[in-house]
Amino acid sequence: MDIIIWLFIAASLTWFMSYVRASLSSYTLSFAGLMVLGSFFNIIGIVSWLLFAVIALPLNIDSVRQQFISLPLLALFKKIMPQMSTTEQEAIDAGTTWFDADLFRGDPDWQKLHNYPRPRLSTQEQAFLEGPVEQVCAMVNDWHTTHVIADLSPEVWQFLKDNKFFAMIIKKKYGGLEFSAYAQSRVLQKLTGVSSVLASTVGVPNSLGPGELLQEYGTKEQQDYYLPRLASGEEIPCFALTSPEAGSDAGAIPDFGVICHGEFEGKEVLGMKLTWDKRYITLAPIATVLGLAFKLQDPDQLLSEQQDLGITCALIPTNLDGITIGRRHFPLNIPFQNGPTQGDEVFVPLDFIIGGSEMAGHGWRMLVECLSVGRAITLPSNSAGGIKATALATGAYSRIRRQFKMPIGKMEGIEEPLARIGANAYLMDAVTTMSTGAIDLGEKPSVISAIAKYHLTEKMRSSIIDAMDIHGGKGICMGPNNYLARGYQGAPIAVTVEGANILTRSMIIYGQGAIRCHPYVLAELEAANSSDNEQALSDFDHALFGHIGFSISNVGRSFWCSITGSHFLNSPFNDETGRYYQLLTRFSANLAMLSDIAMLSLGADLKRKERISARLGDVLSQLYLASATLKRYNDEGRKSPDLPLVQWAVEDCLYNCQHAIDELICNFPNKVIAKLLRVIIFPLGTWLSKPEDETAHKVAQLLQTPCATRTRLGQGQYLTRDGNNIFGRLEQALEDIINCEPIFDKICSALNKKLPFYHLDKLAETGLSEHIISQAEADLLVTAEKGRQWVIAVDDFESDELTANNSKG
Ligand SMILES: Cc1cc2nc3c(=O)[nH]c(=O)nc-3n(C[C@H](O)[C@H](O)[C@H](O)COP(=O)(O)OP(=O)(O)OC[C@H]3O[C@@H](n4cnc5c(N)ncnc54)[C@H](O)[C@@H]3O)c2cc1C
Repeated sequence: MDIIIWLFIAASLTWFMSYVRASLSSYTLSFAGLMVLGSFFNIIGIVSWLLFAVIALPLNIDSVRQQFISLPLLALFKKIMPQMSTTEQEAIDAGTTWFDADLFRGDPDWQKLHNYPRPRLSTQEQAFLEGPVEQVCAMVNDWHTTHVIADLSPEVWQFLKDNKFFAMIIKKKYGGLEFSAYAQSRVLQKLTGVSSVLASTVGVPNSLGPGELLQEYGTKEQQDYYLPRLASGEEIPCFALTSPEAGSDAGAIPDFGVICHGEFEGKEVLGMKLTWDKRYITLAPIATVLGLAFKLQDPDQLLSEQQDLGITCALIPTNLDGITIGRRHFPLNIPFQNGPTQGDEVFVPLDFIIGGSEMAGHGWRMLVECLSVGRAITLPSNSAGGIKATALATGAYSRIRRQFKMPIGKMEGIEEPLARIGANAYLMDAVTTMSTGAIDLGEKPSVISAIAKYHLTEKMRSSIIDAMDIHGGKGICMGPNNYLARGYQGAPIAVTVEGANILTRSMIIYGQGAIRCHPYVLAELEAANSSDNEQALSDFDHALFGHIGFSISNVGRSFWCSITGSHFLNSPFNDETGRYYQLLTRFSANLAMLSDIAMLSLGADLKRKERISARLGDVLSQLYLASATLKRYNDEGRKSPDLPLVQWAVEDCLYNCQHAIDELICNFPNKVIAKLLRVIIFPLGTWLSKPEDETAHKVAQLLQTPCATRTRLGQGQYLTRDGNNIFGRLEQALEDIINCEPIFDKICSALNKKLPFYHLDKLAETGLSEHIISQAEADLLVTAEKGRQWVIAVDDFESDELTANNSKG
């Protein structure tokens, strides 16, 4: 045997062992076997065996390896490890990981993804959607809500309370509806298509707030007292965390409580004097009970020896002396109830702490745990519902509105934004279904909820801008018939709340993802923080060598995927989607490798290098969005007419993955490492392009043509054909126009004229008088013309109708 052949076998063995993520002992044994083979052919001599022994023995004898390798590295790790505040630590500890961990680790198990059950509605949930939800949708007039009374009407408020809309998360034993997360999402999607004020008002009490906190952490007395009252609507809750000085950095709230003795309702009790100044609090102006976050102090050590107990959450009735509440903010013409509140030395018993006095100081953990669930439901569902309704409406409008003698939706320039809206609507619905499905399986998916919140609110904002552009002046002129402008105005609200999006992208998605999803980093961090030195060394040693094997494997896998074009990777399907799984696996391996290299080369600096962190988070996010899309396609029976939507959405995600990695490598601080990364990941350059024009054309046509795919795209939205429902009327107008087209063509060809497609009512008269069409056809032309006129009309007002009525201004 030639030395070249031996070296080739050695290189192949190294690659294979790393690819299959072999253990250290398997590596050593297989190399020992290769050395024996080399000796047999006189390639390996005594010096090589000595070298092998010097490397292999210390690595394989636990005590030697730990003392001479792991111990010094543990000391170094402690030095370079980023310092974590208690609030950061609690945020990282909160929640669970799910399929996000598979995507992060470089080798996702696609069968596992498809085996997760598809979420379904119970009979009661379905009946609620078809009953009270439809009814309230019919009761709300968004223009009246947003422009005339700046609130929901008293009848709507009462209906919401009577039908327990605020009690979807409250257990049945307390009088609530106890809906699944998936059902809550479906309710919010439907409501938001009609009015974002309605959806926000219903969403907040069911999201992070007193109801959720009480169920998770409340004492039995608190649960028995408050939950039935919240379920019946007798109490209106809000939750106040944000203050003028502490927005995104909510852990820095200056609001405080001091433990002391005092009198409450005529009795001397141990309690706390609370002082706060909060703003932006949804439902605060009308709330009867305020969930309050503050820092609790015990200077006289009346509760324990600890003087600074930390962030604590309590329930405060809003009618107590010293509380100021009731004024309103005016968030972007979407006047849901939102406002500031202050408290000045408000004395309440310690029993008012959620969970009682033993939960004093545990408020931050409570909040981040609840947030890891709530963030995946309310804002993503509101965004998905809004865009599903917008996709149908914009498709209908594009087909009905004509310019240059053709529907504007047939123009290539319009097809481009239409395709973005349609594919995003499909993807957004897929993401809410998969994420809420995870919650219903018992997960508290903190990384997924951050991904869903960020990307769905961003996609909602970009899609509504696309829809506005397609509608031209019709989108801009406000009035009762404008179904887009309020969504456009309100989009930044969803982007800002529950963790503003720049912060979420820059810090939260990857910051939590890296530590929670990585198979070894959390164990390394815990070992470094442990006070038991012996255990710490053993744990660190185990995690470190697992980590090294994992890293080598990801480099090997990434390079293999690059040079083979990922064609040899497994895919669960051999159809049009098969290639997508291979490419997603490839980017997953790239993410795992990039993540380790970023952590190793930047150390504690990675926390400050937000743009690196954001781009790594983008890759993880795009992998998740694409996985949800592919899961939806499979769960819905792999219906081939839906493929253009899937193709556009997944190809966009793949392109975005490539773009994020390319930008990351371009901007990687160490240029030598950057060059190596490019050789491993893009040896032949970047190669993926954006979804093709032909795919966009098919998506745009789907949006404009009634068919089963289009119906699936808008599933669950309020589309009832009621004269007061704009979206139902649009659907009817679209069908009428399409049914009229052959009648119009018949008249044109009989008259041998190319007529303009308007005044269809007049054309009906001509068609009848010339005996070209039947009475039924003439009637359809008249109806379609009425619908067409309504669709292209915009509202106008008397001048004084537009001035503010309130002279206090
Ligand atoms: C309409 C509305 C309703 C709300 N409802 C409630 C409620 O019911 N209860 C409640 O407690 N709070 C509520 N909030 C507060 C909300 O959830 C946000 O936490 C808060 O608005 C963010 O603080 P800020 O607006 O002061 O922005 P700032 O914290 O000042 O942030 C400004 C910008 O800096 C960015 N940023 C901040 N830190 C970082 C970082 N480390 N890296 C990169 N970028 C960063 C942010 O992303 C943002 O773009 C609401 C807010 C609004 C506007």
